[in-house]
Formats: sequence, structure tokens, C-alpha cells
Amino acid sequence: MIRITSSLLAKPALFIFAGLGITLATTGVTTVSLYEMRLDAMAQARDAATNLVLSLQKETERNLDIYQLAMRDVVTSLESPGILQLAPDARRLVAFNAANNVRELGAIFSADAAGNDILDSRWVLPPKLNVSDRDYFQVQQQQKGTGLYLSRPFVPRLGNSEQPSIALSLRLDDTNGHFAGVVAGTLRLSYFHQLFEDAIIGVHGTLTLLRTDGTVLMRQPYHRDDIGRTLAGGHSFPPLVQSDYGTYVDVAVLDHIERLYSFRRIGSYPLVVVVGLATKDIYAGWRKRAFAIGIVTAILDVLTIMLSLMFSGQLRRRFAMEHQLQTLAWFDALTGLPNRAQLSKETLRILTDASRNSSQFAILFIDLDRFKRVNDTQGHSAGDEVLSEIARRLRNYVRGEDVIGRLGGDEFLAVLQNCDVHRAAHVAGRILQALYRPITVNAKYDTSVTLSASIGVSLYPHDGQDADTLLRNADMAMYKAKSTGRNQVHFYAPVYERQAKEQLELEIALQRALQARALSVAYQPKVDVTGTLRGAEALVRWNDEKLGIVPPDRFIAIAEESGLIAELDAWVLDEACRQLAEWRIKGIDVPNISVNVCAADFKSPDYPGFITHTLQAHGLEPANLILEMTERVMFDESLDDIRTSLDAIHALGIALSIDDFGTGYSSLSYLHRFAVKELKIDKSFVRGIGVDAMAESLAQTVINIGNVLKLSVIAEGVETQAQRDFLHKHGCLMYQGYLYSPPLPPEDFALWVETHRQQTPVRESR
Ligand code: C2E
Ligand code: MG
Ligand code: MG
Repeated sequence: MIRITSSLLAKPALFIFAGLGITLATTGVTTVSLYEMRLDAMAQARDAATNLVLSLQKETERNLDIYQLAMRDVVTSLESPGILQLAPDARRLVAFNAANNVRELGAIFSADAAGNDILDSRWVLPPKLNVSDRDYFQVQQQQKGTGLYLSRPFVPRLGNSEQPSIALSLRLDDTNGHFAGVVAGTLRLSYFHQLFEDAIIGVHGTLTLLRTDGTVLMRQPYHRDDIGRTLAGGHSFPPLVQSDYGTYVDVAVLDHIERLYSFRRIGSYPLVVVVGLATKDIYAGWRKRAFAIGIVTAILDVLTIMLSLMFSGQLRRRFAMEHQLQTLAWFDALTGLPNRAQLSKETLRILTDASRNSSQFAILFIDLDRFKRVNDTQGHSAGDEVLSEIARRLRNYVRGEDVIGRLGGDEFLAVLQNCDVHRAAHVAGRILQALYRPITVNAKYDTSVTLSASIGVSLYPHDGQDADTLLRNADMAMYKAKSTGRNQVHFYAPVYERQAKEQLELEIALQRALQARALSVAYQPKVDVTGTLRGAEALVRWNDEKLGIVPPDRFIAIAEESGLIAELDAWVLDEACRQLAEWRIKGIDVPNISVNVCAADFKSPDYPGFITHTLQAHGLEPANLILEMTERVMFDESLDDIRTSLDAIHALGIALSIDDFGTGYSSLSYLHRFAVKELKIDKSFVRGIGVDAMAESLAQTVINIGNVLKLSVIAEGVETQAQRDFLHKHGCLMYQGYLYSPPLPPEDFALWVETHRQQTPVRESR
């Protein structure tokens, strides 16, 4: 647990992420709660508006009911027969008895069919008035059964009040049912004003009383001009008349302020009361709180991010310092190479790997010869330059998996993984060559020095089982190299010494032979069941003036290791093609030539181009050439480059033959993938025919595979007729071997073709 936490803490970026995370989280939570608070404010306002409108509606309805009852009393009294017999004062007394109770609401009066005001609840008799021009009179006159009618607002003609009023009217009928006049009650709109006055509606709130046709009867805050205006055109009007109550948000027609409106119809009256609470009032409290909370959150967020940046910055600096310290501890300051401590760590790791995989590795102890002289004559900074340059060169001579470091002074150490004596000798030889080139130390004066080195080599496991022993032995070998003349490589074990020496000698001699064109090519016939010549295999030969005949099995490996193989193969290919062309001119018919190639050849992207060029140069066809390669080629690590070349070669129409088939990692899939034409049964299987049942069955298997995949199968190393017959019996129809001919120099091969042509019919008739 502790380790997890500390390793998490070890990532500076994590602090920044955490800071950002916290900031995002707090901002998110704040936003959501502010949003909820806003919703709450609206919900509360909605409740308040609904409650207010309800209580206003109740109050208004109750009063209007009382008023209407009083008016109906008047109607009943005035319509009762006999009332007309009474004197006007008595009539008033009878009729307006009930109206006394509603005096604070307004006056009730009656008019006759002509509209003349005949009776009035007010005891002070009004001057004669005629109301026939009023809408409430005209509506009742024209439509029987209108019931209670609510008039448009008007300014009463009686009294000195300028205050607008409305009238409620009922129709009077005579005993025959004809229009006899109206009973009307005038209601001062200031009554509603008083009623609405105490309602709490906020700074920008409104209270409105409307007729259902949209006429404004009263509006709070009060503006004289609002009375009588109509809202019927506004988009919020339809909901007001479509249902008895409701709430909605809208921008007011009259003052363009957005409000939450709650409305309610007043009982059965054609009236609607509307409470409007301005949204800016509703959200005023919320806005103040949101502002405060927002500021606090922002401050906290900024603080969090600053802290996380600070922490991560500190951590980063600490890591940088630790990294620097580590570099100092494990790497050499001058050359940047691993130092002694790092080297012994790495050696231990390589040793563990090698003992686990039972593989070999080599330690090269490299000591510069007479380095002290550079320091003494050119100065220390020149010495430093030399060491840096040497380090740079050394780095070029090891593979990625190898380690090269500086032990101190002029001593370097290379640890080469998966390395046998041959590679060790090869790498050490290369290093000696590389170091021996001049090094410019003082560019200004064009001074340069040339240094040689002495290299001691020890090999695991032969020369030691542990790192200390191996190092000590490499050191001893290095002293031996120094004491026997410097600028040379010494192996700790004498056996290796000899092998390595030979290796180096061969490498150098081969290089010389290649340059001097001292190699030659021998040709071995390939024949079919009738013994007819079907082609020839080109095999390189090296007869060295000092070393004598060196067999290909020895020098091909060295050529591969030292990188000379590509040049060698290119030469053989060209020479074989030249030879084939020459034979043709001389009338010696050889259908095709097989040339051995290896993985390194294919790695060059120019290889297919080179082959085309060579064929053309000698006037040959692609069908005249067969490339023989061992299965190893297919499994080389950089298969991709090889595949490109193989595909290109196949596209050219050049046949591929798999040499020594069955001895490698035979896999049917690649035979298919690379459009192989021919399989060559390895000579070890052929040698086993008649002797080794296992070898026999392997030979048979190869033949079967070839037949199934429709590839031609050729057996190499056929020495006896018995071998040839066995192969023939099992379906192998092409042969190569001493039974027919050993590989021959070109002139002998031409001779063989000549004599063989004459012999073949004899062989056929046998
Ligand atoms: P390989 O390609 O399998 O060649 C066949 C080898 O069998 C040749 O050995 C040949 O001389 C030998 N041989 C032929 N008939 C018989 C026989 O009846 N009995 C026995 N015991 N051996 C027979 P050589 O010439 O020594 O070549 C050895 C290997 O070196 C070749 O094996 C090939 O892999 C390689 N090689 C030869 N020339 C070249 C070349 O120009 N380039 C490359 N890359 N490799 C080459
Ligand atoms: Mg071959
Ligand atoms: Mg072979």
C-alpha cells in the first residue's frame, strides 16, 4: 500500500491532474447546487403567487356574491306586483333594504325601460340621469336572459369623483316578460385597489384584474391610463381565458418586464385576477448568493491549482536533481558512458541471463597504449578530447544489447552478450582498427594523435563463473597483449587464443583474396532420372597462396560474420552468369545455374536490381537463374526487408530453391508464402539411405512435401546408385552428387558435359 502511494506520488503530473480534478469537481458541485437553488427560488415564487391569487380571488368572489345577492333582492322587490302602487320613497325603502349592507362597495340603482334613473340606494336623491347609452343598459335591453352583466370601466356622471367604476347589471321584466329596465350596481374600482394594496408582490410585481375579454379593470402598481386598456392581443392572453387558473412565465405587454404569472377566474364572474412576480425579483436573493458562492469557489479553485502546480513543480525539480545525482553515480561525466559501478551492475545482469539461458558472453578489457603521452605532451584537455572521441568510436562497435563503459583513466570495458570466440575476435579486431585512426585534438593547430589499444578477452563460462573472475582474467589477457607488443587482442584461454588468431587471419586473408579476385567458382551438374543435364550449382572455391585450399564451410561463416558475404556472393553470381553465357557461346548447353545466397544479400534494397542488371549484362533470362537459400534466411530477424526482396525476385521470374531442406525450421507456410520452386534434400539424409531408417524416412517426407506442394525435389550428395534408386523409387527425380560428378572447374565441367552427352543414351538404354 505504502509503495503504491509513494509511486503514485512520484508522478509530478499527477498533482496537476488531481488539482484539476478537485477544481472541476467543486465547480461542478457548485454549479449544480446553484442551479437547484435557482429552481427552488422559482418554485417558492410559484407557490407564493398561487396562494396570493387564490386569496384575492376568494375575497373578490365573496364580495361580488354579496353584491349580486343585494342586487337580486332589488330585482325581486321591483318585479313583485304591486310595488308600483307605492310612493317612490316607499318603493326605495322596500327595494333597497338589502342594499344598505353593501354600501361600502358602491351604489345600487334602477332605471326604467327608457334608461331613466328612477330609484337609487343612496338616500340623497341624484339629479335625473339617463343610462340608456351605457353598455350594461344596452346589453340587458337587447338580450333577454343575459343574467348578471359586468360593464366596461367608465367614469360616473354623478358626484365629483373622477374615479373609474364598473357596473354590474340585471334585467327587469314586467309581468308580460317585456323589458322594463335594469337594476345596476356601480362598483368603484378603487375598491379593488384597496383590496390589492396590501398584497406583497415585490418591487416589480403586478396585480391585475381583467375582464375575460382582456379589458384591464385594475392594475397594481396603479396607473390611471392602464384602466380600460386591453391585453387581448398579448401572447399570454389565451391561457388566461382557456382555463380557470394557471401559472406561466411571460414578458408583460404593458411594461415589457418578464414575470411569473399566476391567474384565477373569479368564480362564475367574467373576471380574472392575475398576480405577476418579476423574475428579477424572484432571483434577486438567489443572484446575490450565487455571486458570493461563485467568488468563493473561484478563489478556492485558483488556490487549488496554484498549490498543485507548486507541488508538481517541486517534485519535478526534486526528480531532476535525483536524476542528475543518479547520472553522476552511474555514468562517467566525461564520456557519458556507464562508469565502473554501472558496468558491474550490468555485467551481473548479463551473467544471470547467460547462466539462465546457458549462453556465452565475452568481456573485452580495452586499454589505450601510451595514453599518458597525450596528456603529457598535449595537455589534459587534449587528453579529455581523445577519451571522448574514443568513447564515441567504441559505441559504434557494439550492438544495442551489449554494454560499453569506462572503468576510469584510459581503460574501457565492453560486455558482449550472446557472443562466442568468433564474434569476440571479430569485434575486438574491428575496435583495434577503429581506434587506430588519427584523432584531431587541437583543431586550431591541426594537431592529431594516433593511438593503439591493447584488448584482453575473457569468455563466460569457460574463463570464469563470476563477474570478478571474468574481469580479472580479461585484465590479465590485456596485460599479455601489452607485454607482447601492444595494438593487439589477447584471449585469456590459449585455446581461444589460437582460434581467434586463425579467425582474424582468415578474415584478413579472405578480404585480400576477394580484392585480388583470388577466388574461383566450381560447377556441379544437376541431372534428371535419364541422367540428362538439367543445370549446375555454382560453388565458390578459395585456394589461398599461404593457407592452401580453404573449404567453404569454414570461410563462408567468417564471411557472414565479418560482413564480407554480400560482396562474395555478388562476385560469385556475376562470375557464374558470365560463365553460363560463355558456355552458351561455345555451344555447351547448360539450362540454368544455381547460386547460393544468404540473408545478408537480401537485406540490401538494391539486390533485386543488382540481379536484373547482372542477368542483362550477360544476356541471360531470369529462367536461367535459381537462387538457393537455406531455411535460416526465412527466419532472419529482419524478415521484412528480406520479404520485400524475395517478392521482387519472385516477380522477376527467378526461381527460389530451399537448400538443405529439413535441417532447419522447416515450415510449410513459408514455402507457400515465398513461392518456392524447388526443395533440396540435404546430403545428410541421402547419406543415411540404406543405413539409417530415420534419415530414410526424413528423405521420404521431403519428397512427399515436394510432391504435394508441386515443387521439384532434388537430392544433393548422391554418391551411390543405391541411394539414387531409393530416391527414384520414392519420387525424387533430380539428383546432384559425386555419383554423377564432383564440383568441377569450368573447363572440366565443359568436358564433362561433352562426354556425358555421348554417354547419356547408353545410360538411358540400360
Ligand atoms: P550446399 O549449397 O549445400 O552445397 C552442396 C555441398 O555439397 C558442396 O559443398 C558440394 O561440394 C558438396 N557435395 C556435392 N556432392 C556431394 C557428394 O556427393 N557428397 C558429399 N559429401 N558432398 C557433396 P561445398 O562446396 O563445400 O559448399 C559447402 C556449403 O557452402 C554449400 O552447401 C553452401 O551452403 C555454401 N556455399 C558454397 N558456395 C557458396 C557461395 O558462393 N555463396 C554462399 N553464400 N554459400 C556458398
Ligand atoms: Mg547449395
Ligand atoms: Mg546443401
